[in-house]
Amino acid sequence: MISLDDARKAVLDAVPRLDVRSVPIRRASGLVLAERVVAREQVPPFANSAMDGYAVRAADTEDASMSAPVRLRVVGELPAGRAPTRAVSAGEAIRIMTGAPVPEGADAIVMVERTERDGDGVLVHHAAMVGDHVRGAGGDLQAGQPVFEPGTVITPAHVGVLASLGYPEIAVVPRARVGVLATGDELVEGEDPLSPGQIRDANRPMLLALVEEAGCEARDLGIARDDESLIHRTLEDAFASCDAVITSGGVSVGDYDYVKAALDRFGVLQSWQVAIKPAKPFAFGVVRGIPVFGLPGNPVSAHVSFELFARPALLQMMGHAARFRPEIRAVAPEGMTRKPDGKLHLDRVRVDRRDGGYVAARTGSQASNVLSAMALANGLALLADGDGVSEGGEVTVVRLDWPADH
Ligand code: AMP
Ligand code: MG
Repeated sequence: MISLDDARKAVLDAVPRLDVRSVPIRRASGLVLAERVVAREQVPPFANSAMDGYAVRAADTEDASMSAPVRLRVVGELPAGRAPTRAVSAGEAIRIMTGAPVPEGADAIVMVERTERDGDGVLVHHAAMVGDHVRGAGGDLQAGQPVFEPGTVITPAHVGVLASLGYPEIAVVPRARVGVLATGDELVEGEDPLSPGQIRDANRPMLLALVEEAGCEARDLGIARDDESLIHRTLEDAFASCDAVITSGGVSVGDYDYVKAALDRFGVLQSWQVAIKPAKPFAFGVVRGIPVFGLPGNPVSAHVSFELFARPALLQMMGHAARFRPEIRAVAPEGMTRKPDGKLHLDRVRVDRRDGGYVAARTGSQASNVLSAMALANGLALLADGDGVSEGGEVTVVRLDWPADH
């Protein structure tokens, strides 16, 4: 058996980063930026009003007060999107809306709430200071200013900034296209009736969802029967359209475990018994630059090994510096005892906040086929080889519901 750390290191050392590509900014959210973004124009492009009100010369309003308002002649109107056609001279004001360019001559905006319309004029009740409610040109970003560095994970706000700078496309590490193949003679698709000995294929829909949750593009490769040549051919086809492939089943020591054999034919197989429970058997290889993750068939094992091996590797392929979920310390009020067996146990637990800290409890049976307990869990408690944790003891829990942070 090899340790989780050694197995994971071997996988991550072997997984390449995808080639940088340009994508429309609209498609870039969640991806890793691969270029340095420099402001190629200033934002905002011109000085504009932050308020609906009147563009004035502050000096004209110096003596304004509630009891003695200053009257200015209104000489025009400026909605957003319109360019000023005349300047504001002494004793004048221009009605202006939020976002409209501040006209020449004006150096302050008086908000409409501090004025009163008076025929062709306006009564200003408060003295304005130079610059009041004026958003300066380049006040957000100056032209030439560095804005984002390569490696940044693009959020919707980044997309907005890129749009405000006029970038139609941006260089990113693309989304990995990840094929998911279920293997097993016993598997039935969807709601088809079950014959004796058959079960429904839970892993493929689950893994497709996990792949998408990791920010990848999922490709459904269907179900392959337990047939080495068929699995080999299906993988061969998948390599034409996928950046990575995930299989479930057929990597154990059973007589029909043909995924291992099929991978062996490509001459790249690494197959391990990892010292963990669940998810002990795991096969891996990189075929022509395309990583293949041979996950075990037991659904909990498939899920957990996706978490431990495939997800960090896929994030790495997509250029993410943070590949691993956060870990927290939690109290186990009911304890989490276990038996020594030479393995690290990853128990499915529910973590909740309590008294400014966290508590964790098992969500049900820890058997590797009991997927319902996986579904109730938001964490994996790490129980080192030994007797586990007694009532009220502390455990480290990997948060399955939090994104990677390291
Ligand atoms: P295997 O790894 O192929 O030996 O499968 C181990 C266990 O997982 C067996 O009980 C299989 O029936 C079950 N299994 C394999 N593939 C799936 C799947 N796609 N969905 C649900 N259970 C599966
Ligand atoms: Mg099988």
